Amino acid sequence: MKKTLKLALAAAVAATAAIGASAQDFPAKDKPITIIVPFAAGGPTDRVARDLADAMRKPLGGASIVIDNTAGAGSSIGAAKAARAPADGYTLLLNHVAMATMPTLYRKLPFNVANDFEYLGIVNDVPMTLIARPSMPANNVKELLAWISQNKGKINLGNASQGSASHLCGLMFKHALATDMTDVPYKGTAPAITDLIGGQIDLLCDQTTNTTSQIEAKKVKAYAVTTTKRLTTPALKDLPTLAESGVKDFNVTIWHGLYAPKGTPAPVLAKLNEALKVALKDPEFIKKQEGLGAVVATDARIEPAEHKKFVASETAKFGVAIKAAGAYAD
Ligand code: ASP
Repeated sequence: MKKTLKLALAAAVAATAAIGASAQDFPAKDKPITIIVPFAAGGPTDRVARDLADAMRKPLGGASIVIDNTAGAGSSIGAAKAARAPADGYTLLLNHVAMATMPTLYRKLPFNVANDFEYLGIVNDVPMTLIARPSMPANNVKELLAWISQNKGKINLGNASQGSASHLCGLMFKHALATDMTDVPYKGTAPAITDLIGGQIDLLCDQTTNTTSQIEAKKVKAYAVTTTKRLTTPALKDLPTLAESGVKDFNVTIWHGLYAPKGTPAPVLAKLNEALKVALKDPEFIKKQEGLGAVVATDARIEPAEHKKFVASETAKFGVAIKAAGAYAD
């Protein structure tokens, strides 16, 4: 064997051994794991990520887990950052339904949702609520629909930018009513809710993980939930569904999933998936999520392969709806 080939082989063996050793030691005590949240701090995705980080810390041997809010462009900036990060398990991405809406909504994406990530598992399913500024005159869905038809062309609808859950929900709502409204994009629905409370925007459709406390405190007006059934969460149980309120077949439930960059070593992925499963059974995590109207995942989607299949089916499902509503971004 030629000397250069021998040297190259030795280097490859050493590199593989190093990966194996670091996978075994994962996570190292002195190296924090970063979860990228592709929306603003204080919002619903951020909230799920922080609660999940608390629940995953123990099964990861007390590892330090930090949150990095890299927001903007419907989560695509944060997702791109995660896709480009070193594939060593120390950078993860917590994202929601945007993983399934971005491929249709964006003509160009700097990553491929199916090929550039390792799928670790679905975390939860989260209903959404239709809420309005506190000064909104309507007192129920019927009155709100009448107000919308009387104010055509003047209505501002907040969202967390193209591809976000609030954008998707708003898109479906406008399409169902065949009414246009002006989309007002934010870097997350935490800043959008602040503006809604201040009366700068009229309407917002957002996850219950963000709106429940605002509804309880009567800081916003709440009209309906976006699911096909009413919710049982005490603060939300009196809200009708949009479907029963005359917005036929309306049904938007979103979900969150955990991802790692493509190429993360299998033993590291296995440890992360194991830690995720422990977190999903953590009574404290379940209690926090249920209190906010979210349902922690317990089904097959907590396994990587099923998570990936589920995102592909959601991409197809929402792709049809987004194309029907005719929305694209560059
Ligand atoms: N709720 C946001 C959305 O509409 C995301 C966020 O701010 O966490 O997608």
